[in-house]
Amino acid sequence: MIDVTFLGTVSGIPTRDRNHPAIILEYYGEQKDTLLFDCGEGTQRQMLTAGISFMDIDKVFITHWHADHFAGLIPLIQTMNLEKRKKPLQIFGPEAERFVSDIVDLGYFGLRFEIEAINIPFEGAAETKVLETEEYEVYSIPVLHTVPAVAYAFVEKGKWNIDLQKLKKLGLERGEWLKKLKTEHKVTHKGKTVKLEQVADMTSGLKVVYTGDTKPCDTVKKISENADLLIHDGTFLEEDITEKAHHADAKAAAKIAKQAKVKQLILTHLSRRYKDVKPFEEEARKVFENTKIAYDFMKITLK
Ligand SMILES: [Zn+2]
Repeated sequence: MIDVTFLGTVSGIPTRDRNHPAIILEYYGEQKDTLLFDCGEGTQRQMLTAGISFMDIDKVFITHWHADHFAGLIPLIQTMNLEKRKKPLQIFGPEAERFVSDIVDLGYFGLRFEIEAINIPFEGAAETKVLETEEYEVYSIPVLHTVPAVAYAFVEKGKWNIDLQKLKKLGLERGEWLKKLKTEHKVTHKGKTVKLEQVADMTSGLKVVYTGDTKPCDTVKKISENADLLIHDGTFLEEDITEKAHHADAKAAAKIAKQAKVKQLILTHLSRRYKDVKPFEEEARKVFENTKIAYDFMKITLK
């Protein structure tokens, strides 16, 4: 299960109702993992309101180094230090080493924990696996913005589920031995050699994509293929978009959602000029029905 919480949903300048970009992804696997995507100014207070602990975050993914997407890192690192964090913090992003080192030089942090900065490729059109755990992988791909920028995909690994009917047919019973079968894929049980695929089916995992700031582009389409949730830049309405914008409009984002065959689209990073977001919903839904417009503290559960 995955919970996605939007902590900030505005573009460059915040409003009373919308904070700068930050998204929390909580993955409930063998243990809970909390991943933070972008970290705009004010993210800490948004986390407090949303009931998310600072100390649970071990991995931060920055899409690009514009202040509305990273300025919250400075106070977050300070808080982690004041709270006596010991475990390392990983920060992923294009040119992450340079920017993280600049951030750490900005004040007298007296850091008690290690910050590992991981550079993400930002040129070309290839997907890169930037993280792999037992249960999920995170990929990145370059996107089209005014500065080096990437989109991220969180991809849960497929899981083997034992089919009791298949077990029965082979005259086998449930038991501890199935654990070994799941890890080793082939075991000899009661004199019989059993392969995992004989008694189990592979179910595909969940996929969540976050674009950060970008013009509509093919790389986003590629990384979003069959995603359960696509969180796309939706800064403008189609009528207001200009060539200079380097952002997407609702209609263009919806087209990508449709072409990539995603299940659900959420538009975020809305310009403060729009007081009413209904037209965004209408514009996008003409192209892709299952669209929602993000608001601060919106929470989506995927199962
Ligand atoms: Zn932005």
